[in-house]
Amino acid sequence: MPISFNNAKFIKGAHKLEQCLPDTGLEVAVAGRSNAGKSSALNVIVGNKSLARTSKQPGRTQQINYFELGEQQYLVDLPGYGFAKVPPKLRQHWDQTLSAYFETRQSLAGLIVIMDVRHPMKDLDRQLIEWVADIGIATHCLLTKSDKLSKGKAAAALQETRRQLALIEPDISAQLFSALDKRGVDEAREAIHGWLTDQPAS
Ligand code: GDP
Repeated sequence: MPISFNNAKFIKGAHKLEQCLPDTGLEVAVAGRSNAGKSSALNVIVGNKSLARTSKQPGRTQQINYFELGEQQYLVDLPGYGFAKVPPKLRQHWDQTLSAYFETRQSLAGLIVIMDVRHPMKDLDRQLIEWVADIGIATHCLLTKSDKLSKGKAAAALQETRRQLALIEPDISAQLFSALDKRGVDEAREAIHGWLTDQPAS
């Protein structure tokens, strides 16, 4: 089935796993530390400035948000992690919900991890990447805000991140991205497109 990034439509927000869409289609999840630039990246990838709200209060509006790209093909915006001010109970809720999501979700074809190119592979990023690699979920990393570094420094950050990722799992890929100058948008779309179309629908 073809997918259309530009006609992405918000379908629903879920606070619990039971509220997610039926586990029958194909979906690509997007995760990242709060403030890494996830909402901005999503908005640029789907060509819509306000689809995934760029939050001024990270950690406040935490939901699993479903965007439809095609028939039974979805982009899933996961709650940002690592925000210090999240109340412990809410943090525990999301830890448990996301564990169950990654471990059980049949529709999940791949995970995009958004990291700030200036601070990639923080502890929580690494934990997430190691954990989903163990489960066997394909992962692609976007090093965003690359407009903030010189070309040379961005390339060096990408190389170092790839080196660290390869130690976790050789198939994990990474690229530079910028929501500001739109660098890497096509590459990110290709990764998502591949996951949503190449695999047989369940
Ligand atoms: P989220 O919490 O991960 O969803 O992060 P946001 O998308 O809300 O972005 C956090 C901050 O970083 C905001 O002030 C954005 O304007 C800024 N930002 C996000 N992406 C980029 C980028 O590619 N380049 C630059 N220069 N700033 C960015």
